[in-house]
Amino acid sequence: MSADCLYKSGMSLDPVNILTRVFGYPAFRDQQEDIVAHILSKQDALVLMPTGGGKSLCYQVPALCLDGVTVVISPLIALMQNQVEALQQLGIAAVALNSSIPWEEQTQIRQDVLDQKIKLLYVAPERLFSAGFLDLLERSNPALFAIDEAHCVSQWGHDFRPEYLNLSTLKDRFPNTPRLALTATADAPTEKDIIERLGLSYGRIFRSGFDRPNICYRLVDKTGGVQQLLEFLSSEHARDAGIVYCMSRKKVEQVAEKIAATGRIALPYHAGLNAELRQQTQSRFLKEDGVIIVATIAFGMGIDKPDVRFVAHLDLPKNMESYYQETGRAGRDGLPATAWLAFGMQDVAKLKMLMHNPDKDLQKRKTDHGKLEVFLQFCESALCRRHLILKYFGEDPPETCGNCDNCLTPATLFDASKAAQMAFSCIYRTGEMFGAGHVIDVLMGAETDKIEKFGHDNLKTYGMGSDYSRKEWQSLLRQLLALGMLDVDSEGYGGLSLTEKCRPVLKGEATLELKKPIKIQKVRKSRRALPTVFSSPEEEALFDLLKSVRLDLAKAQNVPPYVIFHDRTLVEMAQLKPQTLTAFSELSGVGASKKEKYGPQFLSALSEAQP
Ligand code: ADP
Ligand code: ZN
Repeated sequence: MSADCLYKSGMSLDPVNILTRVFGYPAFRDQQEDIVAHILSKQDALVLMPTGGGKSLCYQVPALCLDGVTVVISPLIALMQNQVEALQQLGIAAVALNSSIPWEEQTQIRQDVLDQKIKLLYVAPERLFSAGFLDLLERSNPALFAIDEAHCVSQWGHDFRPEYLNLSTLKDRFPNTPRLALTATADAPTEKDIIERLGLSYGRIFRSGFDRPNICYRLVDKTGGVQQLLEFLSSEHARDAGIVYCMSRKKVEQVAEKIAATGRIALPYHAGLNAELRQQTQSRFLKEDGVIIVATIAFGMGIDKPDVRFVAHLDLPKNMESYYQETGRAGRDGLPATAWLAFGMQDVAKLKMLMHNPDKDLQKRKTDHGKLEVFLQFCESALCRRHLILKYFGEDPPETCGNCDNCLTPATLFDASKAAQMAFSCIYRTGEMFGAGHVIDVLMGAETDKIEKFGHDNLKTYGMGSDYSRKEWQSLLRQLLALGMLDVDSEGYGGLSLTEKCRPVLKGEATLELKKPIKIQKVRKSRRALPTVFSSPEEEALFDLLKSVRLDLAKAQNVPPYVIFHDRTLVEMAQLKPQTLTAFSELSGVGASKKEKYGPQFLSALSEAQP
């Protein structure tokens, strides 16, 4: 537990020096340096930074510069454990104190805190306020309080933790200890709440943009569902770890089975599985390479795995917030990652039915519907996805990003006025009660029992739309739905009806431009999405070899591979092929401790690989 404190052995306590010597990074990112300087001047702060932005270093570096223990308050035990393991690998005296730690060990930790042996103490809020713990801290001169996931203090957020409210007392009990609150999720009301409830009004706010430039956003028309997913996985992420989200437990099980049948490790995860199995699944995801988790939204909180290369949605998220939070779990390490979503008309009907729940109050239902509608517009839009997302969250982003489907393969627009009129007329004449499938059958002049039964082959619109393919009609109806010109019933039958908004187009008073469906939406065609473009197959093979060395080292210590080195470091290693320990220590992510611990093994693997 008590790792050696490398930073004590005559090292400078200058933040940049600590960053390079201990963490092995050449420079601070964006606002990190200012935040660290602010904390070192003993002032409070609130840091709003997107996932993967580098929040942890904002308190870990000051912790090593300052005298005394830095207390990190974190709501999630799994997350704490990960961070502590990673810090110990760096030779930093870090420990976690939570309910999962045996009592004797807790007593020892308390003693170590008193003896000033600990630099970073991770603690759950309920521990912090239990059994005289604050008294103990008072005697041991805490250097800094870092409040992670600070949005948990707000009732507006979805992760409200009542214990977080007690944190307001820290200000009075430790008036000389700076407090740093950090979060990736804060809209204006949550931000205000955090400041008020934690008493941070005299602190400074550091706000970073919410963009995740390394994530490529892609949406596809759902035509084959799971089959499309399997193609996506095999053509683009054949060996990568990732998460697949589905709406129901049953579907989770089925999809996991189908992926597993292709020879991948795919594990189901949902609230219906027992806690032990869920724990085991999570642990395999972290500790093995290339595991796919198929999950309901119950999976994700507290998963801090940096090398999740894709997040795929097989069902529609219920709003932009969920979409952004879930896709945000991809690519925390800053390397390229994909957010892939397949969506179809049925999803909309299903979600509307769920939202129709009469137990919920009317206001809530209205907000839910409103948010779903905005999200549908996002799905059907021809504009840059990133632009739309960031605008939704109140930023002022550029018009294009170059890293989303709409930027990479711009949609072609066509005058859809006539086609839309046909669809409206067909829906109207069939009584505004049938789903898309039947409406399209009628438009295309199909011969089905249903058409015969209802005599729909006698309608004027029967067969009028045979110039368009089924796929084109599906795309058109979805776009009309997203534009609010059509509505879908909330009883779950998917019946389409007209709304007031369709009137101008129906009457020929307005024209309508819509997107043509894109035939194949494959943006990247490589066999496998690598975290970088290697210059030769040998280099790529070397990367794989280094990964296997890493996995062996990780297994021997029972820690996740990324705790040894991130992919980014292995990529650099494969590219630069260092031959000496000094050259090795210059790689990003190699600090003094890791150089000593792992340098020789990786160097010998490198030299063996290159005769
Ligand atoms: P957050 O908590 O904001 O989601 P983390 O603190 O986990 O993000 O950092 C995300 C990743 O970026 C980590 O892999 C971390 O090591 C890396 N990182 C953070 N700051 C730097 C930096 N200055 N230089 C290089 N890598 C960094
Ligand atoms: Zn874009």
